[in-house]
Amino acid sequence: MKRVALPGGEEVPALGMGTWMIGEDAARRSEEISTLQQGIDLGMTLIDTAEMYGDGASEKLVGQAIRGRRDRVFLVSKVYPHNAGRKAAQLACERSLKRLGVDCLDLYLLHWRGDVPFTETIEAFVALQAQGKIRHWGVSNFDLDDLQAWCDLPGGDAVATNQVLYNLTRRGIEWDLLPWCQQQQMPVMAYCPLAQAGRLRDGLLNNSVVTDIARAHNATAAQILLAWVISHEGVMAIPKAGTVAHAQENAAALNITLSAEDLARLDNAFPAPG
Ligand code: NAP
Repeated sequence: MKRVALPGGEEVPALGMGTWMIGEDAARRSEEISTLQQGIDLGMTLIDTAEMYGDGASEKLVGQAIRGRRDRVFLVSKVYPHNAGRKAAQLACERSLKRLGVDCLDLYLLHWRGDVPFTETIEAFVALQAQGKIRHWGVSNFDLDDLQAWCDLPGGDAVATNQVLYNLTRRGIEWDLLPWCQQQQMPVMAYCPLAQAGRLRDGLLNNSVVTDIARAHNATAAQILLAWVISHEGVMAIPKAGTVAHAQENAAALNITLSAEDLARLDNAFPAPG
């Protein structure tokens, strides 16, 4: 199974699970819990959530899904920019831990850049790490300028990842951010890897190049989108599935290797930024 190394060498699976919009509908709760549990069993053991998602509802559902399975999971949550100050980050993290029912997060991310100075957030993350409340920390939605500015600050270069938008139809990070991260050996965590099931580009799941390649691999279009994202060095992806069937389908994408010809055809149909 494809894995990605964090700075320091710890490895995580190249495919994890997103949880935005999960935990918000009581009628879907039991299916969503089964979906996450099935995903863990199939090796997608990295779970991404955030205090923002459903105002904590996602964290609560994830907490329920991982009960009894905590040791197998690499748990990621994110702090709101307005909670990223020294004291506020401490309190926000403690609230997330409580909702999740765990003592420690494996990775805590600044959800996006806000008004709190980076130095203050880095200090807050380092303090949480020293207290054993988070194991790694990182950022999200940072462009290259912000990421370099962050890394230049004292302690900032310990950033474990940058979680950013990346899929076949949104290849902007290939311009400068991804090559720089690859050079630094800093993994990138791709969100919306399925382009929100094609909602970010009409007809994506029916695109003839994608479906042709899918047919040749005895796979689905969604699996090809995921295999494409994680074919890039140092990139992991966190597709969100709301059904057991989708989790099973997504997990199987870990075993698909796209050929140089597949990649060239996809490049041609969905060019990288020039
Ligand atoms: P996504 O993962 O690209 O797409 C999710 C959609 O794809 C859902 O509608 C899901 O439907 C569908 N889907 C899942 N598996 C499928 C399959 N095998 N075949 C067809 N459709 C499938 O989009 P996302 O949820 O926006 O992004 C993923 C995760 O990234 C989020 O859940 C969140 O954890 C994170 N995220 C982070 C940020 C940030 O600012 N840091 C922003 C956006 C997202 P079902 O629910 O019916 O399975």
